[in-house]
Amino acid sequence: MKKFVIGNFKMNTTPLQFSSYLDEFLPRIKECKTNIIFCIPATHFHVAKSRFDATNIKFGAQNISCEESGAFTGEISSSMVKECGADYTLIGHSETRRRFKETLESLNQKIIRALAVNLKVILCIGETKYERSTRKTKLSLKRQLDSALKGLYENELKNIIIAYEPIWSIGTGKTPNVKEIETTVADIRAIISDSFTQRSADKINILYGGSINESNFAQFVKIKGINGLLVGGACLNPKSFANICR
Ligand code: PEP
Repeated sequence: MKKFVIGNFKMNTTPLQFSSYLDEFLPRIKECKTNIIFCIPATHFHVAKSRFDATNIKFGAQNISCEESGAFTGEISSSMVKECGADYTLIGHSETRRRFKETLESLNQKIIRALAVNLKVILCIGETKYERSTRKTKLSLKRQLDSALKGLYENELKNIIIAYEPIWSIGTGKTPNVKEIETTVADIRAIISDSFTQRSADKINILYGGSINESNFAQFVKIKGINGLLVGGACLNPKSFANICR
């Protein structure tokens, strides 16, 4: 089965720098069969669109508005993102949840807006350090998943990728061990099975994200139930990211 590798650029590089990055990245992944997705600032979409045209690489936004249009200065809607050629959007990254004080209801609304314009969703969920240490990880993930997927039809799950990203692991150099990730991914599938069906729980793509780099990624790809990786900091180095993708 083809694996996903998603690079989250966060607020890094200018469009020109992104283009130079691709000069180094693209020749290195020519024979690569991985599903590669770049989540980039909207200012980089035109670069991605022209440079990925002859490749299988997709790109996406890092966030969208929960509103369709109107007086929402600074926001970008799902249809704007889609029309610029994006196929995906991150929803609920821990950094946007925190910085923009996203509510569970607004994240559900964002997912509905994305799916309405055929934008696929990479839904980020994860527990805090405190939740893990008090054995509340499953409860926390259930709350995040139940609210995010509220009102969705089962057949819409094919357009959702779940990125399991422990909040305490993002950008910290710390990761859960393989066993902990395997257990948590099984818990996520159990939650999906309870809310939808076992079939959709088995089929949904679940990625791991959090402090992945060129030296530790291999152990995460092999974890049972994991369909790929979401890479933050390490995707900014074209050589490292190409090695991870390959
Ligand atoms: C992320 O931003 O989703 C992420 C996983 O970051 P990092 O790889 O830097 O921990």
